[in-house]
Amino acid sequence: MSDKKKNTPKLSFNSLWIYVPIAVIFIGLSFLNSGDMGTSKLSDNEFMKILRENDIEKIMVVNKSYAEIYIKDEAMTKEPFKKQVNSPFYRKGSPLYTYNFGDLQNFEKELKEKQDSLNLDFDKRNEARTSIMDSIIGFLPIILLIAIWLYFMRRMSGGGAGAGGGGQIFNIGKSKAKLFDKDTKVKTTFKNVAGLEGAKEEVQEIVDFLKSPEKYTKLGGKIPKGALLVGPPGTGKTLLAKAVAGEAGVPFFSLSGSDFVEMFVGVGASRVRDLFKQAQQKSPSIIFIDEIDAIGRARGKNSMTGGNDERENTLNQLLTEMDGFGTDTNVIVLAATNRADVLDKALMRAGRFDRQIYVDLPDLHERREIFEVHIKPLKLAEDVKLEFLSQQTPGFSGADIANLCNEAALIAARNNKEAIHHQDFLDAVDRIVGGLEKKNKVITPKEKEVIAFHEAGHATVSWMLEHAAPLVKVTIVPRGQSLGAAWYLPEERKIVQSEQMLDEMCATMGGRAAEKLIFDKISTGALSDLEKVTKQARAMVTVYGLNEKIGNVTYYDSTGNDSFVKPYSGDTAKIIDEEISKIIEGQYNRAISILDTHKDKLSILAERLLEKEVIFKDDLVKIFGERPFDKEKNQEILKSSEEE
Ligand code: ADP
Repeated sequence: MSDKKKNTPKLSFNSLWIYVPIAVIFIGLSFLNSGDMGTSKLSDNEFMKILRENDIEKIMVVNKSYAEIYIKDEAMTKEPFKKQVNSPFYRKGSPLYTYNFGDLQNFEKELKEKQDSLNLDFDKRNEARTSIMDSIIGFLPIILLIAIWLYFMRRMSGGGAGAGGGGQIFNIGKSKAKLFDKDTKVKTTFKNVAGLEGAKEEVQEIVDFLKSPEKYTKLGGKIPKGALLVGPPGTGKTLLAKAVAGEAGVPFFSLSGSDFVEMFVGVGASRVRDLFKQAQQKSPSIIFIDEIDAIGRARGKNSMTGGNDERENTLNQLLTEMDGFGTDTNVIVLAATNRADVLDKALMRAGRFDRQIYVDLPDLHERREIFEVHIKPLKLAEDVKLEFLSQQTPGFSGADIANLCNEAALIAARNNKEAIHHQDFLDAVDRIVGGLEKKNKVITPKEKEVIAFHEAGHATVSWMLEHAAPLVKVTIVPRGQSLGAAWYLPEERKIVQSEQMLDEMCATMGGRAAEKLIFDKISTGALSDLEKVTKQARAMVTVYGLNEKIGNVTYYDSTGNDSFVKPYSGDTAKIIDEEISKIIEGQYNRAISILDTHKDKLSILAERLLEKEVIFKDDLVKIFGERPFDKEKNQEILKSSEEE
C-alpha cells in the first residue's frame, strides 16, 4: 500500500478529532449544569401545601431569582417525595424541588409570616451562584475563535499527504515533498529523455555515485552534494532529475521551491530540516527542488523594501543542511531554475550545488529526437515528415513538442481520421504559435486589403533579401491576436552578423512599407513589427556593440544587477536614441525601395492572398521565380525529406 493510501483514512480522522474535545466540553458542561435533572418545579399551591405541613428542611434562594427546596429526611417516606427520591436522577443531598417565587421581597415576607404563625422550623438561606453554562457562554467567542483558527491551520497544513504524512495541524512544519520510492517507483529512464546528450552525460555520473559510491570514496574522492539544472521552462529538467532517480533506483523526493514558503515565520526552515531528515532516512536518495529561485534568490538585495526574512531563513537552513550532511549520507540534491543569475552565490559555491548543468532549448537534431519519443504512443499516417516538423518548430521546448503531438492527435480525432496526418501536425503548429483561428472575426473589405498588402510586403521583402529567413506561407486568416501572418523557416544561427540582423529588420518593416507605398497611409497594424525592430536595433547598439558611432561598448550586465542609474551619460543616451532611429528608418526606406522595384509582383501577391487567404511557398515561386539564395538550402531540405 502506498504512503498516500495509508494516509487517507487518517486524514479524515484527524480532521475530526480537533473538534471532539470542544464538543465533549460542551456536552459535559451542559450535563453538569443540569444537576437539577432530579428536581421538579413546584406550583404555588404545591409549595404552600409542603410549607404548611412543615416538611421543608431548607429553602435556598439562588441568585435572588428562584428557590431550591430541600425536604426533611423523615418526610421522604411521604407519597409525592417518595416517588421523586426513587427517580434514577435523584442524588442524595440535592434539592428535591425548585420554586419560582416571583418577587423576592414578597416571598420573604410571606415566609416570615408563615414561619411565625405556623411555627415552622425550616432554614432559609441566600446564595449567589454562577452557572457553568453562563461562564461557557462568556467564553464562547474565544472558543469559537480557537475553533476557527484550528480549522484554518489544518487547511493550510492540509494536502501534505505524501512523504510527510497526513494533513494535520502539526504537519505545518513538515516538508511537502512528493515521494517516489519502491511503491510508487520512478519509471522514467534516460530513454525517455531525448537529446540533452551533454546534460545526460553529466547526470550519468550522479547515477554512478548513487549506485556504487565506494568506487569514488575508495580513492578519497567526495561525492558531490548537489547539481543545479539551469534552463528555460519545459526543456526537461524535471524529466532529467526523475530519470536519474529511475536509473539509480533510489527514492526521489520532489517539490517546488515555493512549497517551503508559508505565511508563518520559521515554517520554511522547519520544512527544509524535515525534508533532509526524511531523505537521510531513505538514503541513498535524491531530493529534487524545482524552481529553486523561489527561495534561492540572492539575500539582502531588497533590504530597502524591508526584505523577506522568512525566505532568507529558509535559504540559510537549506545551506546549513547541505553543509551538514556528510559525504557518506548519499543524498544528492538536484535543483532546477531558469534564472541561475538571480541565485545566491552561496548556493553555488563548491560543496553545495557545485555542478551546474545547462539544459538548453533543443536544436534541430534534438527536436527530431524529442518528436520520436512523443510520437511513440500515437497512430501516425505514412505521410508524416518528422524532419520537416523539426524544422518548423524552432524555439520549441520539449514540453512544447509534447504538447504539439498531443494537439495533432486531437485535431485528427476531431476530423474523424483513422491516423494522424502531416497536415494535422502543421495545423497544430499554427494553432500553438498563432493561437486559435478566428474565422468569424469581423473585418471590413478595406481592412482586409490593407492586411493583404501588409503581409505581401513582408513576403516580398524577405524573398528579395539574402539573409532574411526563407518563407513558408503567408496568411490573412486572423488567429489569436494577429490579423495575418507570414511564416518563415528561420535558420538556427549561433552567432548573428550585422547584415543578417539588418536584413531581418528590413523584412519586418516590409509590412508597413507596403502600406505606405500602396495606400500612402500607415496604420496601427504594424505594432508588433515595430516592437520587434526597436528591440533588435536597441540590442545592436547597446548590447552587441554593432554600431559604429557607439563603438565596441556594451551596456549589458550579465549579473542581472539592474540599477536605476543608466550606465552611460546623457550625451551617450542621445546618441543611442539617434542611432536606433537611424537604423530603423534606414531599413524602412530600404524596404520601400525594394517594394517599389517589385510593385507589380507585390500587387499580384496581395490579390492572390485576398482570393485564397493562405498561400504557400510554391505560389511565391510562381510569382517571383526561384529565390536565388534558397537554391542550396532547398536542395538540402528536399534531400532530407526524401530520405525519410
Ligand atoms: P522543466 O522541468 O524543464 O520545466 P519538464 O521536465 O517538466 O520541464 O518537461 C515537461 C514535459 O516536456 C516532460 O514531461 C516531457 O513530456 C517533455 N519533455 C521536455 N524535454 C524533453 C526531452 N528532452 N525529451 C522528451 N520529452 C521532453
